[in-house]
Amino acid sequence: MTKGTQAVDLLDDAGIRPTKARALVLAAIMEAGRPLSHPALAALLPELDRVTVFRSLKALKASGLLHGIQGLDGLLRYVANPASRKGCPGKHPHFLCLECGAMTCLPEQRMPHVRVPEGSEVVGKQFLVYGLCPLCSAKNQKSGNPADLATRKSASAEK
Ligand SMILES: [Zn+2]
Ligand SMILES: [Zn+2]
Repeated sequence: MTKGTQAVDLLDDAGIRPTKARALVLAAIMEAGRPLSHPALAALLPELDRVTVFRSLKALKASGLLHGIQGLDGLLRYVANPASRKGCPGKHPHFLCLECGAMTCLPEQRMPHVRVPEGSEVVGKQFLVYGLCPLCSAKNQKSGNPADLATRKSASAEK
């Protein structure tokens, strides 16, 4: 089964109209296997215009097939929910690499429980840990730029 037909099946199961654009967007996200922003997706799908990609993302998210996490740049990244956890709103922490922008889901870890003022209504939460991914961290050490690394370390120590 190709990712395309799989995407159409998932759309059917979720009860939303399996338009070509939605299937393409969902297939591209499943293919990537990591969170992608709207601009990154639009670049992967030149056959769709950006507004169509955006509308498809909104519909897919509303149907519980995707979850979105906001990076430090304010851009949402979208990742497909596994079929076994349909409707999972992404209640897990994420790691963002400040160098290459890659975002990783950490679904095996639980979100901290945060008490909110009584009477409040929580509609979502996100927990983002950021730094350097293993690839960028290794590159950084190899390039032997100690000054740069020292700046980074002191910058993060201040937080
Ligand atoms: Zn990286
Ligand atoms: Zn996630």
